[in-house]
Amino acid sequence: MPAASSAVPRAAARAPAKAGASVAQKALHKLGLLRDIDLALHLPLRYEDETRITLLRNARDGEVAQIEATVTSSEVQLRPRRMLKVMVDDGTGTCELTFFSFYPSHQKTLAVGARLRIRGEVKGGFWGRQMLHPQFRVAGGELPAALTPVYPTTAGLPQPYLRRAVVSALQRADLSETLPPGLEPPVGRFTSKNGLQRLCGLREALTFLHHPAPDVALATLEDHSHPAWQRLKAEELLAQQLSQQQSRRARDQLRAPVLGSRPLQNGQPLHEQLLAVLPFGLTAAQRRVGEEIAADLARPVPMHRLLQGDVGSGKTVVSALAACRAMDAGWQCALMAPTEILAEQHFAKMIGWLEPLLAASGRRVAWLVGGQKKKERSAMLALVESGEAALVVGTHAVIQEQVRFKNLALAIIDEQHRFGVAQRLELRRKLEAHGMEPHMLMMSATPIPRTLAMSYYADLDVSVIDELPPGRTPIVTKLIADSRKDEVIERIGAQVAAGRQVYWVCPLIEESEALDLSNATATHAELSEALPGVMVGLLHSRMPSAEKKAVMALFASGQMGVLVSTTVIEVGVDVPNASLMVIEHAERFGLSQLHQLRGRVGRGAAASACVLLYATNDSGRVGETAKERLRAMVETHDGFEIARRDLEIRGPGEFLGARQSGDALLRFADLATDTHLLEWARVTAPLMLDRYPEWADRHVARWLGGRADYLKA
Ligand code: ADP
Ligand code: MG
Repeated sequence: MPAASSAVPRAAARAPAKAGASVAQKALHKLGLLRDIDLALHLPLRYEDETRITLLRNARDGEVAQIEATVTSSEVQLRPRRMLKVMVDDGTGTCELTFFSFYPSHQKTLAVGARLRIRGEVKGGFWGRQMLHPQFRVAGGELPAALTPVYPTTAGLPQPYLRRAVVSALQRADLSETLPPGLEPPVGRFTSKNGLQRLCGLREALTFLHHPAPDVALATLEDHSHPAWQRLKAEELLAQQLSQQQSRRARDQLRAPVLGSRPLQNGQPLHEQLLAVLPFGLTAAQRRVGEEIAADLARPVPMHRLLQGDVGSGKTVVSALAACRAMDAGWQCALMAPTEILAEQHFAKMIGWLEPLLAASGRRVAWLVGGQKKKERSAMLALVESGEAALVVGTHAVIQEQVRFKNLALAIIDEQHRFGVAQRLELRRKLEAHGMEPHMLMMSATPIPRTLAMSYYADLDVSVIDELPPGRTPIVTKLIADSRKDEVIERIGAQVAAGRQVYWVCPLIEESEALDLSNATATHAELSEALPGVMVGLLHSRMPSAEKKAVMALFASGQMGVLVSTTVIEVGVDVPNASLMVIEHAERFGLSQLHQLRGRVGRGAAASACVLLYATNDSGRVGETAKERLRAMVETHDGFEIARRDLEIRGPGEFLGARQSGDALLRFADLATDTHLLEWARVTAPLMLDRYPEWADRHVARWLGGRADYLKA
C-alpha cells in the first residue's frame, strides 16, 4: 500500500502491533542491528527535508516538496485505469494528486475539506502541477527541526519503525570516547552553533549524522566528506587495524613447530634433493621468497604468509620446497586447491617430484577429494593419521573433521581467495593436540593492490614473485568481433596442425548454469564439426570428476588438440604445449578472470596468443566498462597493473572473495579516497595497543562486535 506509506506505518510505529514488531525485530536481526550501538552506527543513506512547507506557487518542476493544502475534490476514475484523483489547494496554487493503488482508509483521509501535509515530487506538466503517489497525512503538529534520515533497510522494516529504533538506541547506547586524548584522527573541524571550531567527537558525529540541521551542505553528507563522516570512517578503519594487529600479536604468542633446515634423518635435505632433480633452476625471485618462507618456518610462531606471483611465475615449486623443509623436520604438510582439477595437477606434480625422494624413508604423498571412492578414501585417511603420508594434496576435503593428521606443520593454500574464513580457522585447529598451530602459506595469482594489502590483509606477511621464469615468449592478445569467429576457427586448425593445443573458453552465464552448459555443448559440437580429424574435448563443472580427470589427462598428454571448457579451467591449469587461448564473450568476464585465463597459455617456449572474442549489442557496441577491460587486456600483461585497473573498475569486493564473507567489513570508509585516514589508523593502532589496551578493546568491540573473527582468519 504505497499510497499512504507515511501515514500508516507512522501510527504502527507509535503502538507497534505484536506481529508487526516481531517481523521488524527479525528484520533488524537480519541487518545485524542487534545492539544499541549497532543501531547508532547504522547511518542514513540520504535525508528528506521535512523541516519546511513549500508554497505551491514556489514549487518547481522536479523538486521534492512538502506542502500543506486542503482537498477540494476527490474522485475515483476508472479510465484509462482505476485511479484516485485528488485536487488540493493551498491558497497560492493547486496540485493534482494521483494514486493507482489506494484503500478506503486512504480515501477517508483524502476526503474533500481535509487539510493535509503532503510530500512528493512536483511535476509541472501542461495540465498543471501534479504529484504521483505522494506521502500524506493530516496536517498539524510541529515541523521537525532536523532533516529526516532515510536508512538502508529491508523488507518488513519500515523507515518510521527504524527511525524510532535508532532514536532510542542513540539515547541508550554507550557513546563514550574510545579514542584516547592525543590520538585524534586528522579530520576537519566541526563548526558549532556559536561559531567555535571543535573536534568532532563520536557522540556529536552520530547525533549530527542521524539528525542534521537543515542548513548543512547536503553534498558534504552525500560524498561523506563532512567532518562527522570523516570521524566515523577514521574510527571504522581504526577498528579494523586494531583487530588485525591484535590478531597478529595474539598469533605471536602461539607456538608452531620449528622447521629448521637440518633433516632428522642423515643425508641431504629434501629441498636440496628436489632442487637437484628439477629440470630448471629457480629464478632470483623464487629464491628470495623461498628464503623468506624458510626464515618464518624456522621460528617457533605460526607463519601466516601470502605468496603472490603473477600467473605462471612458478609458485608451485616454491610451495613444494617449503613442504620439503617441513617433511625434513619430520612433520606433515597439506596442499589444498579450490578445484579438483587443480588439486589433481598438483598431486601429479608432487608425486613426480617428491615420491622418489620420500620413498627412501617409507613416506608417501596422499590424495583427498570429495568425490573419492570410500575404500580409497579410508586408505588415504589411514595414511594421514599414521603419518606415513608426509604430504596430503586435495581440495576442501583435506580439512574435514574426519581427517586426523599425525602432525600437520604446514598448510599450503593455493588460490587462497577461493577459501573461506571457516576453512582457514579449521586448518589452524589441526595441530591442537600438540598445543600448537600449523604454519600457513597462502598463494594467490591475483595481486592485492597496496591499499587493500594495508587494510584487509594487514595481518599477513606478503612475499612477491615479481619475475617470470626465463624463455617465455610474450602472449599476443587480440580483440576480435565474434562475427569473425570462422577465421578464428581456421586459425585453430592451423595451430593444431602445427602440433600445438588450444583452449576455448565459454562464458559463465550467471543466471543459468544450464544455459551455460548448453552453450559449451553447442560450441563443442560446432568445433568438432569444423575441425575434422582433431580431437575436441569438453570440460564443465557439472561433469563427474572421473570424466573431468579423463578429459584433462587427454589434453595434458597432447592427444587432444582442442579443449572447450566453461571457466573451470580458470585457475592453475598447466599444460605448457597449449599456445592459443580463445575466450568467447570476453566482454562478460572480469578483468582478473581474463588475466587468469590468458595465463593458461604462454607457459612453454612457443609463441602464444590470446583471442578475446567479443559480441556487440544491437547497435554494434560494447558497454563502456567492458571496453575498458578489454582494452586493459591488450595493453598490459602485468598482473599488478591489471589488478590495479580492476580495483578501479569494480571496487574492492572482488579481491576479497571469501575473506569478505558476503558483507563488506568496511561500511563507511572507501579505500580509494580515504587513504590518509587509513594511514592514520595504521600508525595509531599499535600506539593504542601499547599505551591504551583497554580503550583498544572497547573500540574493537564497539565497531566489530562478533565480526572480528572474520578479519583474523
Ligand atoms: P603459478 O605461479 O601460476 O602457479 P606454476 O607454479 O604452475 O605457476 O608454474 C608455471 C610453469 O613454470 C610450470 O610448468 C613450472 O614447472 C614452470 N616453472 C616454475 N619455475 C620455473 C623456473 N624457475 N624456470 C622454468 N620454469 C619454471
Ligand atoms: Mg598455480
